[in-house]
Amino acid sequence: MKAAVFTAPKQVEVRDVPIPEIKDDEVLIKVKAVGLCGTDIHIFKGEYFTEFPVIPGHEFSGVVDRVGRGVRYFKEGDRVTADPNVFCEACYFCKRNLQNHCEDLRVIGVSGCQANGAFAEYVAVPFKNVFPLDDAISFTQGAFVEPLACVAHGLDLAGIRFGSDVLVVGAGPIGLLLLQSLKAAGAARVVVLDLDAEKLRMARELGADLTFAADGREPEALKAVAPRGFDYVVDATGIPAIIEKSFAYLKKAGTFLVFGVCPKDSKISVNPYEIFLNDWKIVGSFAIRKNFHQSILMLSSGKVRTDPLLSLRYPLEKFPELLSRKMSQLDLMKVQISFE
Ligand SMILES: [Zn+2]
Ligand SMILES: [Zn+2]
Repeated sequence: MKAAVFTAPKQVEVRDVPIPEIKDDEVLIKVKAVGLCGTDIHIFKGEYFTEFPVIPGHEFSGVVDRVGRGVRYFKEGDRVTADPNVFCEACYFCKRNLQNHCEDLRVIGVSGCQANGAFAEYVAVPFKNVFPLDDAISFTQGAFVEPLACVAHGLDLAGIRFGSDVLVVGAGPIGLLLLQSLKAAGAARVVVLDLDAEKLRMARELGADLTFAADGREPEALKAVAPRGFDYVVDATGIPAIIEKSFAYLKKAGTFLVFGVCPKDSKISVNPYEIFLNDWKIVGSFAIRKNFHQSILMLSSGKVRTDPLLSLRYPLEKFPELLSRKMSQLDLMKVQISFE
């Protein structure tokens, strides 16, 4: 089969590799759509825990091609997606239902060649990680289930309350998934901040109550619409300097959700006296903890729209080109490889 392979940091090629062998508890999925994510860029640059070589791709959908002997619930021809996080269910954290902190975590398309991903014609996945996709969900949408599941986990941890006032900083694909999810979760108002006018237009189309350009005048503009700040400030930029500044928009007793992934060795400074005085909560949110079912329902119900977030679909042969475009063009939304 054809696959995109990261052979070493900053080395990518599309080449022929054997179709994965499946174990008794695994399903072989013929890939239909797979999203390119910021994590894939980190992996490519060698900034992640990944071992090389690896076939990347952890946001995917497809059709069951073959099932192992011990597989239940799935058969050939089923339309599916899969949670790429394979938990051991035996370690200290798994036994406390904190599976995203599994001490033996294997992530398909991330960990290494023992868990090759979906930028390939086929991917092998344990059946316990596979989820059916109903006909209401296209394969394109199916490849958004994973990032939306990350959003669901963040909302769970932040404990978004009915009727709250929220600021989302950053209107890339994740910011726009957060925006729609926050509205659906009961936020009374979601305000979105970004540099890019086109992204802000899309935010309004997807339900943002107010949007502001981060043009240097945003502190006054936000102060005018939220004099006491926001109940929740959600960072979807992963840029430390922006996170640091955004604490100024947090209300007393508010919650700051650190959602965007910052560089590993970055630092911010926050005044601990202010955290104390204001009853602030700072919440982190890593990956997902069995949130696929929530994400699938939000997509099939139409509560969260993904089609406006997709800016490019390429065939697999163009993976290296897609990668370099994604790295050079910050204005791109979500990009996918499609096998349809
Ligand atoms: Zn991802
Ligand atoms: Zn574990």
